[in-house]
Amino acid sequence: MEEDILKYLTEEEVRQLSACELCPRKCRVNRIKGEKGFCNTGLSLAVALIINHKGEEPVLSKNKGITNVFFSHCNCRCIFCQNYKISDCKTQVKSLYPTMQEVIDKIEATLQTSENVLGFVSPTHQIPVMKAVIRQLHLRGIYPKIVYNCGGYENVQMLKQLEDIVDVYLPDMKYSDNELAKRFSSAPDYPDIAIAALKEMYRQKGSPVLTDKDGNIESGLIIRHLVLPSYVNNSKNALDAIAWELSPNVTLSLMSQYNPPFEMKYPELNTKISQQEYDEVTDFAFGLGFHKIYLQELSSCDSVVPDFDNNTFIRNS
Ligand code: SF4
Repeated sequence: MEEDILKYLTEEEVRQLSACELCPRKCRVNRIKGEKGFCNTGLSLAVALIINHKGEEPVLSKNKGITNVFFSHCNCRCIFCQNYKISDCKTQVKSLYPTMQEVIDKIEATLQTSENVLGFVSPTHQIPVMKAVIRQLHLRGIYPKIVYNCGGYENVQMLKQLEDIVDVYLPDMKYSDNELAKRFSSAPDYPDIAIAALKEMYRQKGSPVLTDKDGNIESGLIIRHLVLPSYVNNSKNALDAIAWELSPNVTLSLMSQYNPPFEMKYPELNTKISQQEYDEVTDFAFGLGFHKIYLQELSSCDSVVPDFDNNTFIRNS
C-alpha cells in the first residue's frame, strides 16, 4: 500500500493533478480523486525502480553511472517499448518503494555509488511527483544534476516550469510520420508536438552540452532517436525536422538498439534493424550537418536497456 503523497505536493501541483493536462493527451481527469487517464496513473509515487545505470550516453554516465528513477506507466505507450514491463499502462506495477522517504533513501544510497547525476525516466505524467522528490532531496542537502529523460510527447507549458529544475533534457524524437505515431503510440500529432517541445528545451539549454573542468555534466540537451526497422524515412525526416526547426549544432544520440520485446502484430517490427539501415540514417545525419552524434554498436540491441559502451564516440567536425 503506497502512502498518501498529497502532503508533499504544492497547491499548484494539486491543481494540475485535479484536471490533468500534464501531457498533450489533456485527459482532464481528477487524479487527486484517483481518476486515471491514458497513462493509467492516479495519485501515486509510481516509482518502479531506482538503479545505478551505466548505459546512458557517456557524458551522463561517465565512470560511475547515473542514478535513474524509473516511473511506472507512461504517457506514450509505444507498442515496442523496451521497458514495457513497467511502462505498460494496463498492469499495475508493484513499487519497491511505497513511501516518499523510502524513495529518497534509495536515491541517496544509489547516488553514493554513481556520479552526482539523477535521471528521471518517463517523468512526463509524474512531473509533480518528480518535483516533490527533488524538493525532498534538497531538504536533505542533496543537490544532484537533474536529467529529464522523456519520450518527447510533452506539454510546453509544463516544460517552462522545469526551466530552473532540470539541468539536462534527454528527450526522444520518435516520429516524423503522423501515421506511424498514431499506429505505434496512439499519438497522431506526435511530430508537431515533439518539435514544439524540443524547441522549448532548446530555448532553455541551447546547443552546447556543458561540463565542468573534470568532465562532469552541467547542463544541455541531447536528443535521442531510435531507428526502427523498415522505417528509415521516418528517421531521416525526424532528423531533418530537428536540423531545420532547431539546429544541426544540437547533440544527437542515434540509437540502434531496437529489439522486439515480444511478437507484435506488425511483422516489420519483429526484427532488429540492419547495419545498412543504421548506416543510412547516420550518413544522412552527418549530411544534414549534425556533428555531435552519439552512435551505438548494433550489438547494443542485445541489451534490454540502453547500452552505450565505451566505444561510443562523439564526432566533432
Ligand atoms: S499525464 Fe496521464 S492523465 Fe494526464 S493528460 Fe497525460 S495521459 Fe492524461
